[in-house]
Amino acid sequence: MKENCIFCKIASGEIPSKTIYENHEFRVILDINPASKGHALIIPKEHYNDIYELPEEVAGHAMILAKKLAAHMTKVLNCDGFNILQNNGEVAGQTVFHFHMHLLPRYDKDGNQDKLCFNHLDLSQEELEEICQKLQQ
Ligand code: 5GP
Ligand code: ZN
Repeated sequence: MKENCIFCKIASGEIPSKTIYENHEFRVILDINPASKGHALIIPKEHYNDIYELPEEVAGHAMILAKKLAAHMTKVLNCDGFNILQNNGEVAGQTVFHFHMHLLPRYDKDGNQDKLCFNHLDLSQEELEEICQKLQQ
């Protein structure tokens, strides 16, 4: 547990939360500032700042849990679609520096943009080739 980490305190139960699921490794809570009805967060009980620190085994378990909860939440909430999001670093929108995954039920006309808003870069074939080669290393 990391000192002064709000998600460590929530995950351990020290700070109460609207918990929808819990096991020995994770707590899943409703987001305090939801982007849609049912917006939830998968939080590991151990502290990892971000995906770079997350052990592969925990990452695997988190994804399996996300898959199960997406199915369960879709059935119970009768939502029309589902986003799974995970931010790393301030520039990527991370505000709480304890790894978490967003479970975001989506509804027809829920007020959010259909597509999450990213720019579309106009890259040349040469630039694409250069990036591709760099990433294959
Ligand atoms: P991030 O931007 O780091 O990916 O997401 C952090 C999320 O945590 C935000 O959606 C924010 O609303 C949520 N959040 C921050 N503090 C609390 C809290 O104390 N309780 C709950 N339930 N959610 C929180
Ligand atoms: Zn923490």
